[in-house]
Amino acid sequence: MAHVITRACCNDASCVDVCPVNCIHPTPDEPEFLTAEMLYIDPEACIDCGACIDECPVSAIYPDDQLPAKDEPFLQINADYFKDHDADGGLVRHPKPPKLPDAPLRVAIVGAGPAAFYAAQELVRKQQISVDMYDRLPTPYGLVRAGVAPDHAQTKGVENTFAAVEKKANFTYRLGVEVGEHITLAELRERYGAVLFASGAAHDRRLGVPGEDLPGSISATEFVGWYNGHPDWVDLRFDLSSETAVVIGNGNVALDVARILVTDPDELATTDIADHALEVLRASNVREVVVLGRRGIEHAAFTNGEFLSLRDTEGVDVVIDPDELVLSEDAAAALDDDSLDSVIATKIRLAREFSEAPQTEGNRRIVFKFLSAPTEIIGGDGDRVSSVTVMRNRYVDGGVEATGRTESIATGIALRSVGYRVEPLTDLPFDEERSVVPNVDSRVLDAPGGDPIPGVFVAGWVKRGPTGGIGRNRMCGEEAAASILADFAEGVLPEPTVDPADVTDLVAGRGAHPVDLDGWKRIDAAEREAGAGQGRRRVKFVSVDEMKSVAGVPATAGEA
Ligand code: SF4
Repeated sequence: MAHVITRACCNDASCVDVCPVNCIHPTPDEPEFLTAEMLYIDPEACIDCGACIDECPVSAIYPDDQLPAKDEPFLQINADYFKDHDADGGLVRHPKPPKLPDAPLRVAIVGAGPAAFYAAQELVRKQQISVDMYDRLPTPYGLVRAGVAPDHAQTKGVENTFAAVEKKANFTYRLGVEVGEHITLAELRERYGAVLFASGAAHDRRLGVPGEDLPGSISATEFVGWYNGHPDWVDLRFDLSSETAVVIGNGNVALDVARILVTDPDELATTDIADHALEVLRASNVREVVVLGRRGIEHAAFTNGEFLSLRDTEGVDVVIDPDELVLSEDAAAALDDDSLDSVIATKIRLAREFSEAPQTEGNRRIVFKFLSAPTEIIGGDGDRVSSVTVMRNRYVDGGVEATGRTESIATGIALRSVGYRVEPLTDLPFDEERSVVPNVDSRVLDAPGGDPIPGVFVAGWVKRGPTGGIGRNRMCGEEAAASILADFAEGVLPEPTVDPADVTDLVAGRGAHPVDLDGWKRIDAAEREAGAGQGRRRVKFVSVDEMKSVAGVPATAGEA
């Protein structure tokens, strides 16, 4: 017997710390951790102690004899990883924490998503450190609330980790306060020994093809924010009258968007999807979603767990023409002699299984097309999207090139999901070339290659670029916390000159009224109560004013 990690794995690696035999890999100490799709348990080494089950924030681990039927493929996926990945990592090493001064340290964290919380978790362990967390929205948890797909409730279990942090006596929320608008960086630096920015906003990368701005051509960020009830996107209107939708890109967000478009709305009605989105999806005509990848299956960016989970979407067929599964020469040869990376080999195996699976008359469909890049989005009546022109590519010398052969896909909606870009943050320098805030080990520099700004730190996508999920953000937040602790120990953090007790009055003078833990708990309880009546996890408030009213604070001046 052995334990098995399944699709919901969030890579947060809490399980790694408790495994007595170090059989969960890659560990955060191993280079592969940075790019791993998920973590895996070595079935040869696991002693079935069960310690990891309690520790996993998203309940992704099962003993193999209790594995749900849908997760059985993960037995092989876990075992396959150890065929070609060295798992002899030795004991997990944690650097010895520096000896801290007895003096108090006040830290402001800007942002309330995963990187912010993992940094806070490290800092509030120290009694003499207090953390104030700022976010422009009245609700915390960032992309866990507004990015994780509503039908992935298990992944949202990581909120329990964050809820344990917010309860600490040395932690304070100042939600609904926008740094740069209601309080400046200079004002924060007067009040806190360290200011950590972990508020990377996601903006879609553009395709750079004609027709990209036509009505019906949509960014995945907007669509995801809309169906997740993010206040920034709730007023958007999407026309789903077309039978076919095209999703451009093939990462996990592309799969989320494709799946949500064809999932039975009655299934979605049991999730925390926004009510306005559910209403539109109920009236949707979309029966087929075509997912386009510029390169072949071996380079698909979605994870095997997400790809496999499409099989469990009721009433939906995954359709892959076997001719779409062309490999590069190198990958084909490596697959033949069993030397291809096991994660890529699994992706190819799953795609081949999908391509052979029977289809069911009347089912909705997700159709994968590989080696297919959009070259133009064409407008029809009223200039709305009417088709997408696609160039077929081929592998040449390890890369892809256009064949010159094009095809047209008739559709009324084209969603682009080809990655993100980071925008500059108010009051902080920006490295235009690398699209990040310039930093060394999370310490913000006054310019790219310049000097550190004492007491100013950065974590998350604004620090390293817009890649990686919860696990990567955990590492990133912990690295930032380690740098803050090191600078505190060294005595190089600036001494605050103003007590932050005045922040509430200061921002109130600018129209903002902070939501504290009690306020957030009132919002949380009201959402859960509304959800319980409908058999749902929660029903989200989607208006900032409504959230603030429930929290018991006045609306922010000037906000709708
Ligand atoms: Fe490690 Fe015990 Fe989990 Fe097996 S069951 S992976 S030995 S913690």
